[in-house]
Amino acid sequence: MSYLKQYPNQDGYFGDFGGAFLPPELESQFAEINRAYLALGRSADFLNELRYIRKHYQGRPTPVSYARNLSRETGAQIYLKREDLNHSGAHKLNHCMAEALLAKHMGKTKLIAETGAGQHGVALATAAAYFGMECEIHMGEIDIAKEAPNVTRMKLLGAEVVPVGFGGRSLKEAVDSAFQSYLGQAETALFAIGSVVGPHPFPLMVRDFQSVIGTEAREQFLELVGELPDQVGACLGGGSNAMGIFSGFIDDEGVSLNGVEPLGKGTKLGEHSATMTFGKPGMIHGFKCLLLSDEEGNPAPVHSIASGLDYPGVGPEHSFLKTSGRVNYHAISDDETLDAFYKLSRMEGIIPALESAHAVAWAMKHGRENPGETILINLSGRGDKDIDYVADNFGFEGS
Ligand SMILES: *Cc1c(COP(=O)(O)O)cnc(C)c1O
Repeated sequence: MSYLKQYPNQDGYFGDFGGAFLPPELESQFAEINRAYLALGRSADFLNELRYIRKHYQGRPTPVSYARNLSRETGAQIYLKREDLNHSGAHKLNHCMAEALLAKHMGKTKLIAETGAGQHGVALATAAAYFGMECEIHMGEIDIAKEAPNVTRMKLLGAEVVPVGFGGRSLKEAVDSAFQSYLGQAETALFAIGSVVGPHPFPLMVRDFQSVIGTEAREQFLELVGELPDQVGACLGGGSNAMGIFSGFIDDEGVSLNGVEPLGKGTKLGEHSATMTFGKPGMIHGFKCLLLSDEEGNPAPVHSIASGLDYPGVGPEHSFLKTSGRVNYHAISDDETLDAFYKLSRMEGIIPALESAHAVAWAMKHGRENPGETILINLSGRGDKDIDYVADNFGFEGS
């Protein structure tokens, strides 16, 4: 049986990871979302409408590009799946458009979510504008101050940005605040999670919605190169862009799959966000996964130069795929990431998101050690959002 049909089981478990641990008030809402997804989300009508949107609005399929100069420099053959060219500049719109379409089919008129750096908020606000739905985005006050351009984008797209001023005033509090607000309006609103995380059915649903990346990339790579790649790699925050591209190759035993997580500034707790390397089984936001936690078992503070990757948990499916051995996980430092950011910009004319630059850095490292191999990297997003931060703090040259 194909892997994707086998996992998760009907309760949302990937081996020991996943599930749905919800406050009683939310159990019936998530059961409704699950029923709706299984009935509507896989219907011909839904899939046809989604196909139309992807082609005529998002601009899919995104191309696979051969990175000629980077390949020459490293000795491997490096290819990039260009999610930076997906409308709004990253892979996130793939699942946001589908979540919004599901909400529409369920008769909802509003989308609610939290956002950290604002990327999920912008993608969801884009989807809400397209479907003429209301959009309410909860964001910590600290993040609002740090990510002003994304706040402006959300407002221009017509979303209401709700500032969250309690506790650490960041992502974790934004999740609590968004859930609270959703509780009061679950009849008319859908809570739209931004990665392959959260309670069942979101890890399954978001993986399915992102699998378009892998389906396209496999076909395009075969057409371009004539055989499958030796290695497929993607960066890992919650894990949605990685599951998207892995989906296309997971039944191909000869293709190695690689998730690339942030080693940040070092190996001490708080300096990195390397959940797969240092995490232990635990629970966060209603599901079981590998987790970076402190001595009391609470989610630990995390760091990455890429704000889209700093989450102390990770998708349950990745936690399972590490245990099963099907996917290899690697940690890449802030410095290696910056080097890849400069190199890809200078040598290929592509400014990558700092998130995506982690995967590029791994490809360069692996390529130097294994010359001649073919490597396909999912370039999850473009780096426009990061240019001021990089130029102001590190200049224009790199080391
Ligand atoms: C949000 C984001 C990520 C991390 O999310 P995943 O769910 O792990 O894919 C990676 N790259 C970009 C460009 C992002 O915006």
